[in-house]
Amino acid sequence: DLHTHSNISDGTLSPEQLVRAAGEIGIHTLALTDHDTMDGLIQAEGAAKELGIKLISGVEISSQWSRPATKKNYGVHIVALNMQHPEPLLALLEQQKQIRAVRAKQICDLLIPLIGEDIYAEVVAKVEHIPDRVTRTHIAKTLVEKGYVSRAQQAFDKYIKEGKKAYVKFDGLGLEETIQVIHASGGFAVLAHPTRYDLSATNIRYLIEIFAQFGGDAVELPPAVEPLGTRQMVDRMIAEHGLKVSVGSDFHGDNMPWIKLGNIPRVKEGQAGIWESFR
Ligand code: AMP
Ligand code: MN
Ligand code: MN
Ligand code: MN
Repeated sequence: DLHTHSNISDGTLSPEQLVRAAGEIGIHTLALTDHDTMDGLIQAEGAAKELGIKLISGVEISSQWSRPATKKNYGVHIVALNMQHPEPLLALLEQQKQIRAVRAKQICDLLIPLIGEDIYAEVVAKVEHIPDRVTRTHIAKTLVEKGYVSRAQQAFDKYIKEGKKAYVKFDGLGLEETIQVIHASGGFAVLAHPTRYDLSATNIRYLIEIFAQFGGDAVELPPAVEPLGTRQMVDRMIAEHGLKVSVGSDFHGDNMPWIKLGNIPRVKEGQAGIWESFR
């Protein structure tokens, strides 16, 4: 499973608990890919060693790309895997963490006139008062707990998703530079969940094309719950651009209880797994 979250970002298991849960279900290769941070890795290493699990260094980077034809900026998640010398990436992540911390405050400020209350203190309390770990999942959870919405999804739909009043774009590093920094760190760049960005098929096609042009290494396969046609479209684009594939559940613990750790899509015959390149 090459895409998982711990409570260092918006998962609910600690990095060590995550590794132990992986051990229990027989996962042999696990990447911890928290949002814009690699801070959980050290905590995961001990348990991984003890259980004989191959722990792959990872992080899910909030990046962005644009399409000249539509003059629009789009957010995209790039999973970085298996860094051999992470210093360049760690430097980038310091900037990303700053952006995340500032944005958390901005979102809470925008919520004040909408709900009549400042929830910032309660939001950062969910991440050990470390503001650069705050994701919109934590803000949504706080809105649920305080009774402003009944479910997290509703918090996104009403307040914090793109187009809503308390939405703040994540102004992260561009796609090309993100891939370059990952490579400078001896890692692989994986386009995360290509079908989950609310993009038209044309835009997904364009995104995968520029991702390949910029030197991206692999594309995540869509989960089995998505329609067969979606999977086939992604399979075709992967083949067309000679990309490798990656597999991950995007496990978030109890924050998304319908996603099971280790529940990864099947690799099609002829597709090359990025894990075969791990050292
Ligand atoms: P952030 O990086 O702070 O923008 O938070 C992104 C995270 O919020 C994603 O990784 C998901 O876990 C979650 N998320 C994003 N969009 C939605 C949505 N529409 N509904 C529920 N959760 C979402
Ligand atoms: Mn998340
Ligand atoms: Mn993501
Ligand atoms: Mn994720």
